[in-house]
Amino acid sequence: MDFFRVMIDFGKRKRFACGCLAEITEYKRTLCPVCGIERVTPNYQQMFKDKKWNMKIFMDREHYADFLSSQIRGIVSEKTKKILIENFNNAVDFGNIEMISFRDLTEQKLQEIRNCYGYAAVKKIPNDPPQYYRLLLKQGAELDFQKTNIELTVDCSKCGRKRYATPGCSYHEGTPYIIESTWKGYDIFYIEGMGNTVFCTERFIEIYNQNKLTGLEFEKVQTV
Ligand SMILES: [Zn+2]
Repeated sequence: MDFFRVMIDFGKRKRFACGCLAEITEYKRTLCPVCGIERVTPNYQQMFKDKKWNMKIFMDREHYADFLSSQIRGIVSEKTKKILIENFNNAVDFGNIEMISFRDLTEQKLQEIRNCYGYAAVKKIPNDPPQYYRLLLKQGAELDFQKTNIELTVDCSKCGRKRYATPGCSYHEGTPYIIESTWKGYDIFYIEGMGNTVFCTERFIEIYNQNKLTGLEFEKVQTV
């Protein structure tokens, strides 16, 4: 069984549109007194996984991929949603997104966007962008921690934070090794210890190619 790491294709000849968060807020940073790790709120990565969150995004241009590049991974087109339900219904769930048009943006909001994303960001925001959805996935397999060269370095009882990292590092370095016998049968999934990285099977890539979907690249990972 081969597994793959799912990565974003930003567009080879022409850049794909990026979905940008329309809620622009000041981040609050606090240090946990027990583990010393910085906590940033709002935590959009966490909110993304909450089915009820009303996420709002605008597009920075026209030229739409089926899997959108965005600050947060896992945003899919209407066509992709349908294909995923047809083929991988046990693995996927979806959350809504409110798509923001250029005409929805007040002058004050545009100024906030310029301040946050840069001047160029507001120049090509389209009216009437297509509908996208948040793709919600489950944990689908376990890692061989030793071979992956990763360990649970923080497991905080105070803030609930878990951090998996390569020893002596604050992140993971190297290739993940998936334990094949722990695979739960989902063709697209997360793995505990690999954060928001998405993994998939060959069957997922077959369906992706058959339907000529766009926006992803795949990299084979190791299996034990
Ligand atoms: Zn803590």
